[in-house]
Amino acid sequence: MASQQLDNSVTSPVLEKVNLLGMGEDSLVAYFEELGERKFRARQLLKWIHARGVIDFDQMTDMSKALRQHLSETAEVRLPEVVSRHESADGTIKWLIKTRGGSSVETVFIPEKGRGTLCVSSQIGCTLDCSFCATGKQGFNRDLDAAEIIGQVWIAVRELGTDLAENARAVTNVVLMGMGEPLLNFDNVVEAVNLMMHDCAYGYSKRRVTLSTAGVVPALDRLGDVTDVSLAISLHAPNDALRDQLVPLNRKYPITCLLDSARRYLDKLPDQRRKITVEYTLIDKVNDRPEQARELAALLRNTPCKINLIPFNPFPGSHYRRVGKGAMYRFRDILQEAGYTATIRSTRGEDIAAACGQLAGAVNDRTRRSQRYREARVESRAVKGIEA
Ligand code: SAH
Repeated sequence: MASQQLDNSVTSPVLEKVNLLGMGEDSLVAYFEELGERKFRARQLLKWIHARGVIDFDQMTDMSKALRQHLSETAEVRLPEVVSRHESADGTIKWLIKTRGGSSVETVFIPEKGRGTLCVSSQIGCTLDCSFCATGKQGFNRDLDAAEIIGQVWIAVRELGTDLAENARAVTNVVLMGMGEPLLNFDNVVEAVNLMMHDCAYGYSKRRVTLSTAGVVPALDRLGDVTDVSLAISLHAPNDALRDQLVPLNRKYPITCLLDSARRYLDKLPDQRRKITVEYTLIDKVNDRPEQARELAALLRNTPCKINLIPFNPFPGSHYRRVGKGAMYRFRDILQEAGYTATIRSTRGEDIAAACGQLAGAVNDRTRRSQRYREARVESRAVKGIEA
């Protein structure tokens, strides 16, 4: 027994270096204090890694040689690996990003007039299985860690910058609308969005970083205590009967419960003028009728919001069809006449499968994926009290 233990210790791998990429200011302060260093090192390091894009400790010239040496030996800034990069005819860019373990997620950049939006993933796959979303169909593998989430921003910002005066396709906004449900990966997502908004990192204002959720209410109730990021909720239906079919999570947290929670989130924000964004994917003959627009207008009466209509993007195997143009404009007009700001999200990057709901990534080990998927589904249904 004793000799076995000795063998194990002899053959055990060298301690893995700590990855500093996903650590926010508080985590870095704790890290440096443990090394006997002063607090301000945290802000220095954030500037090097995120604002300047320097990941080689040797180049961090405002740190002592001894500290740089120690960092090189015990820590690293480990970026996720870009496997491929596709560019659409309309200027949209999609990166396939490999994560530890070999699976990949997708990150999309969408250039528009006066802004450039980066759409970031938070999980490998998704457990929610919304009936109209390709990500859900490919199952769930695992949560991304904070480094893998902020790493997507690091990669895009290195290529495109953040300043429109320098590059017409700069990253001016970040949305957590890629693969996954951000609120089911709460701590990592919060660490990453707070880095996006940190002065020493990317410095985006809270209006330029948006977290989109299908409505994980208990997590949404905690969100306002730890961040003031902009909020989008994926509604897609004006009543519970229909939303239960489109977004199974609704059976656990129905619409009124979600809207109440969204309003509580707004109440916690210091700036009382802020609104949430309500996302509504328009699907032909499912949720695009005029009476459904009127029902939606009535439903949202007491929720400070603007409404973003997303034409459904088809993907292989889906039986839904995209909304017709006439139905789409009629739907928008009814909302506008009822006094809402309602916009239609233009479909971008469809030729490279980068449009909303088309992100599927790649999971190398399909057997493990489907097995993990089944486990995660069972687990998620158990946790959420959804009947299988
Ligand atoms: N899980 C989060 C974020 C990811 S989805 C959420 O549900 O909000 C980002 C947005 O794209 C959501 O509003 C989602 O409902 C929408 N979407 C998903 N599949 C789509 C598709 N095929 N066509 C159009 N929009 C889609």
